[in-house]
Amino acid sequence: MASKYLSSLSKDEYSELTKKLWDIQNHKCFICEDEIDLDLNTTNIDHIVTLANEGKDAEVNFAVTHESCNKSKQDANLKIAKILQKLSKIQDSVHAETGKSASLKNILNKYSGSQFDFKHKIENDELKYSFSGVGDNKTYNAPIFTDNLSEEKT
Ligand SMILES: [Zn+2]
Repeated sequence: MASKYLSSLSKDEYSELTKKLWDIQNHKCFICEDEIDLDLNTTNIDHIVTLANEGKDAEVNFAVTHESCNKSKQDANLKIAKILQKLSKIQDSVHAETGKSASLKNILNKYSGSQFDFKHKIENDELKYSFSGVGDNKTYNAPIFTDNLSEEKT
């Protein structure tokens, strides 16, 4: 959703805000947590909690991200985009270590005792999950594939 606050800023004020958020975030993208190089990377400022979820249209609710990260999150709020990014990093690291896809167990292990309220259930070979703890009550689905040989669910 468009921000009245951001569209009221001049180009210079917008760059200043970008720089300020970038400093607060230790020069890292809010979503992927990789470094942002302000000279090289195109960035976006976005609401951490979407206005649709009653986030404030104010500086405290803004974060700076790579433009590409922000575009790929679609309408999810930034915290969820971050979690999804973490899931895909877990997937990548497990794949790099074992040559296999991350199993549900790998992912859930990483999440047990984590700060995220990651609620999930398994229904009809689908993982249903939501992040109501961070203010998003949407249910997300991910298909689960059962490996016929190992019966490992991924
Ligand atoms: Zn990023």
